[in-house]
Amino acid sequence: MNDDNSDRAPHGLRRASRLAHTGTTPNEMHGFVNPPVVHGSTVLFPDMETARTGGQRYRYGRRGNPTNDALEAVVSELEGAEATQLFPSGASACAMALAAVVKAGDRVILMDNVYAPTRAFAREVLTAFGATPQFVDPKDPDAVEAALGEPAAAVFLEAPGSLTFEVPDVPRIAAAAKAAGATVLLDNTWATPLLFRPLEHGCDLVIHAATKYFGGHSDLLLGTVSGSGEAIAAVKAARGLWGIHVGPDDVFATLRGIRTLDVRMERHARNAMIVAEWLEAHPKVARVLYPALPSHPDHALFKRDFDGASGLFGFSVRGEQARADRLVDALRLFAIGYSWGGFESLATAPIVNKVRSATRWPDEEPVVRLNIGLEDPADLIADLDQALEAMDA
Ligand SMILES: *Cc1c(COP(=O)(O)O)cnc(C)c1O
Repeated sequence: MNDDNSDRAPHGLRRASRLAHTGTTPNEMHGFVNPPVVHGSTVLFPDMETARTGGQRYRYGRRGNPTNDALEAVVSELEGAEATQLFPSGASACAMALAAVVKAGDRVILMDNVYAPTRAFAREVLTAFGATPQFVDPKDPDAVEAALGEPAAAVFLEAPGSLTFEVPDVPRIAAAAKAAGATVLLDNTWATPLLFRPLEHGCDLVIHAATKYFGGHSDLLLGTVSGSGEAIAAVKAARGLWGIHVGPDDVFATLRGIRTLDVRMERHARNAMIVAEWLEAHPKVARVLYPALPSHPDHALFKRDFDGASGLFGFSVRGEQARADRLVDALRLFAIGYSWGGFESLATAPIVNKVRSATRWPDEEPVVRLNIGLEDPADLIADLDQALEAMDA
């Protein structure tokens, strides 16, 4: 599907070089580096024969255009996928990927730490369409294997979960799921394909909220699903049948953002580690939930499968929820907001047990989640320092 762009992405280049060169076709665009932002529903044909047989690359706006193809090519290249499909949001990408591979009567196994709207989609929509979701502890591969004792159509993972940051054993779970005939889906928004490539670890479909790090500037919503063979063919068919399309302006903004993904991720990770280490040494912090820290219980698994960490992590304090709320309210540089992955630092105090059912988070250990942005980490630490002080004032 993306072969037209392969001249700019020769095999053997390293990932950062491929990120810079995939999806541009200046020879077709009068020399301009970037693809045009193609607005269009109608595509014209030279004659009825071509219109009927589909003997030209583009036929209908909803089926694709050069702008959207360029972004699909970049994401496919980074994930090592045959093809990518674009969706209007990350939530829509998660929902449609599941809808594409699950039908009435099927069982679906989801890790208990998946993104809350993915959980809600499984519980409300898949159930309404006659499928049965089952949630399992992402840290208990035996429980996952036991759940696979009965036939399941799909297994859905997130690595790590974006509230509590447990890292599942992806290769082990994927192998068990494949052996049981299930399609394996993984929401890779946290790591980006620069740091983790699920298809290399046995997954069939990899999903991104491109809203987050791909866009990187808190100014768009977009989702992607990538894979090869039958799995991505099913997603492509479903996207067409449900009539889903993404307008080219948000695709253009995502393309602009993704070109700097490598440099941004390096800075997010460096800042996050400085802040995480500072928090870990703070007497008021119970636990830092960042798999890149050697003290994290999943650090060995993380080191085995990931090339690095991103800038989203959590920490917990002891006591009641109100303590975490007061801490977040006292922050001045960190803003309160959910949609992470942008250049500005954010904080929230999620109520973890509201969005899990197979596992339980200790009540007296409320979590604060931080999106570490591109500010100077000394300023972020100063802000956290005064807020931890103010928490008990
Ligand atoms: C934000 C997010 C999504 C949803 O993305 P939207 O574009 O906001 O719909 C899906 N999965 C994860 C892990 C996310 O953090």
